Amino acid sequence: MKIEYGLWRAKRSLSPYLWFKNRMFIVQWEAEGRTWTLLNEPTEAELSVGTPYFKSTVEKFGEFLSTKVVSKFHGTVEGYLEQAGLKPEDIDFITYDHLHTQDIRRWVGTTKPQADLSPREPIKPYFPNAKLIVQKKEWDILPYLHPLQTIWYQPEQFEDIPEDRIIFTEGDVLLGPGAMLMFTPGHTHGNHSLVVNTDTGIWVSSENGIAAECYAPEESGVRALRSYAKKTGFDVVINGNTLEETARQYNSMVQEKLVADPSKENPKFPQVFPSSEWSPKFPLIGPKPSFRHKKVAIGTIKRPKKDGGQT
Ligand SMILES: [Zn+2]
Repeated sequence: MKIEYGLWRAKRSLSPYLWFKNRMFIVQWEAEGRTWTLLNEPTEAELSVGTPYFKSTVEKFGEFLSTKVVSKFHGTVEGYLEQAGLKPEDIDFITYDHLHTQDIRRWVGTTKPQADLSPREPIKPYFPNAKLIVQKKEWDILPYLHPLQTIWYQPEQFEDIPEDRIIFTEGDVLLGPGAMLMFTPGHTHGNHSLVVNTDTGIWVSSENGIAAECYAPEESGVRALRSYAKKTGFDVVINGNTLEETARQYNSMVQEKLVADPSKENPKFPQVFPSSEWSPKFPLIGPKPSFRHKKVAIGTIKRPKKDGGQT
């Protein structure tokens, strides 16, 4: 991603790019005598390449550089679930902090055949029981995207999603004990953040910011962030790849920062885990973050039994 997006006006580097990692979270909670399972950010990388921004990257760098050098494929949603011991039918809900780059047709199926993936019949859902939880505002804006947002969405891929596979929400939603979606508009019109209360305290995830240190830039080991915070007095540095509602995004980041508990590893930074995380992986691309939460795994994943009990 471009550095002026991720670090907005705090950029101070010769490199025009930053390196990112997309994160998926598996969240489980107990309620009504059973385990509920949510997948947060199950991005299907192969289908997200239809996003205009990625298409233009491929045009600029060519197929080989785009897929082998400036991006790296780590694994599939299906593969990670298998590793975690979960089956597709175990997933009750999927959600995204917003619908940028997403194409969920294979996850929840379609009402009509799809020329590119299933030309003869509608797509059968990979997750037979999962429903998409999405803010009504995020869904309703799809046919009417602001020009500043169009490079990030694939609105046509949502036209044939069955409505009975969607749960529309408005504002904050308590999913179950210790799990909620907090309405945090700004990066997009209908953005929400995952908030979970765990054995290590409260964690928040969204794409409003790209690193924990963007939520405490005055403490950052990255000089550009620290001096920018000092110069402006800003509490947070937004992920500025959409500028439609910048002030609201700033407010949402402050809200996320206040809700999250301090990191146990370094209490200067909040337990905000960005869904698109600034990563030091690729040495040739851009500056590196000074702090990361790395892998966050709390508790053990359970496989819900069909009768509602636990394995
Ligand atoms: Zn986004």
